[in-house]
Amino acid sequence: MLSSSTTESRRQFLRQAGLTAAVATVAGPAAALPFSEPLAAMQNENQRKLGFAIVGLGKFATQQMMPAFKDCKHANITALVSGSPDKAKKLAAEYGVDPKNIYNYQNFDSIKDNPAVDVVYIVLPPSMHMEYTLRAAKAGKHVLTEKPMATSVEDCQKMIDACNKAGKKLMVAYRAQFEPFNLDAISRIKKGELGKLRQITADHGRIVKPTEEPAEAWRVVKKLAGGGSLMDIGVYSLNAARYLTGEEPTEVTAQEFSDKSDPRFKEVEDTIHFTLRFPSGVLASCTSSYSIQEVKRYRVFGDKAFLDLDPATDYYEHNMTIGTKEGDMKVSLKEGNQFAAELDHMAECVLENKTPKTPGEEGLKDIRIIMAIYEAARTGKKVKL
Ligand code: NAD
Repeated sequence: MLSSSTTESRRQFLRQAGLTAAVATVAGPAAALPFSEPLAAMQNENQRKLGFAIVGLGKFATQQMMPAFKDCKHANITALVSGSPDKAKKLAAEYGVDPKNIYNYQNFDSIKDNPAVDVVYIVLPPSMHMEYTLRAAKAGKHVLTEKPMATSVEDCQKMIDACNKAGKKLMVAYRAQFEPFNLDAISRIKKGELGKLRQITADHGRIVKPTEEPAEAWRVVKKLAGGGSLMDIGVYSLNAARYLTGEEPTEVTAQEFSDKSDPRFKEVEDTIHFTLRFPSGVLASCTSSYSIQEVKRYRVFGDKAFLDLDPATDYYEHNMTIGTKEGDMKVSLKEGNQFAAELDHMAECVLENKTPKTPGEEGLKDIRIIMAIYEAARTGKKVKL
């Protein structure tokens, strides 16, 4: 397809892939253009999409991520890893995956001999992310892992070290950082549209029903989930406060409420309120809960205006309002496929040998802060970071 490694040939490839248009509409104005200079790796690899092995065929993998591959320019499903052979066979037929590329958790390591797999995408309960990252890196594969990255800082560090040692990319699937409304919010804040930032509120909540939904069962088992609502959805409030300010918090306070007579909250927490203090003086007041109706919103307050995104971190249909002393204004933006943008970004990082926008270090930062929030809730004391 491409005759030489010139800038023109890159442009030609971008045109053929329709990628420039995709960046403008999917990634939004705040996203950096994914390609800078042509690289040899890209020239060799751009004839094909990178092959992804999906590890764990649960609700999120099958209902959100696998369907998104059809909108990817650089990512393709080439292998499935599951403990349920029937489910894997059915999905392999649906997605055109060669049945010989179906693995189970026992023979997963033999994926090292499969050149059709470039990236292993881990969509298992959080406590399993570390093991599968280490096994994937050992098998010579790049790793995309779901959030939360792991259930301890030590596990996050092991994942980073294993991928570094193997010379492989490690990215945490923070889809909101690829979502157009969130990118637009970051861009407006950076441009000073809100004035000086003063405070942020961020709330994430949902009802967890493990008895009705088998997919929810691991969420209330500490060994598998690492914690409760904070690990699972509070991480969106936390991650948003960090990407909206572009700063790292210096201290946290927190309070927890969990009804221990409710069987769902025997092992993990229900509701956590936490505050983050940022160096510029911004205070973020965040919540997460497993016992309220669904909420996924944030509001950023500056001294000139506020920016409200509600929902902020949903799969589709976001709503942005900007409020000034003149009144409130609804912002209309084109929805983009954040899942496909995230998958393509992972593939582009491999093809161009770039560090992912949300590398292992980004996941580790959140887990470190989450551990401080748990400590603050347990002790009732401010915890310095
Ligand atoms: P799920 O229960 O539907 O899927 C988990 C999968 O892991 C299932 O296929 C299950 O069979 C498999 N599994 C293997 N060993 C297991 C074990 N010992 N116990 C339980 N399951 C086991 O859960 P899900 O909602 O799809 O979540 C999977 C991952 O995706 C989690 O890390 C979760 O945080 C993440 N997630 C991310 C988003 C997002 O928006 N980025 C949304 C939902 C879930």
